[in-house]
Amino acid sequence: MNRWNIPVWLAQHVIESDRRCVYCNVSFETDTATRGNRPSWEHIINDARIITAENIARCCISRNASKGSRDLAVWIESRYCVSRGITVAAVAPIIKKALSRALHGQIDRGVGFDQGVAIQDD
Ligand SMILES: [Zn+2]
Repeated sequence: MNRWNIPVWLAQHVIESDRRCVYCNVSFETDTATRGNRPSWEHIINDARIITAENIARCCISRNASKGSRDLAVWIESRYCVSRGITVAAVAPIIKKALSRALHGQIDRGVGFDQGVAIQDD
């Protein structure tokens, strides 16, 4: 376990699969000259209790800071993302899947989640 309670097997899996930021695609192997480009642990759904291969990813520090506590579906439509080319079509497959699940209401988030955020499918 690290301090995010991510078990070692899962951390290793994610480190091996996410060699680039799942949001902006910056490389964690070659593009780490600035601090903002370095990897950080991301809970795709902002719930620290959801520690699964579907919800843990690596994204750069800059995008993590921007997303903050916002829902992915809301954040990805923000001006910040749009202006940087971070779109539903451009993000990593794990993020596309999470957005798709969110759209189809397959994640029980309780009250306040299903507020009609539109994500275009194409
Ligand atoms: Zn990034």
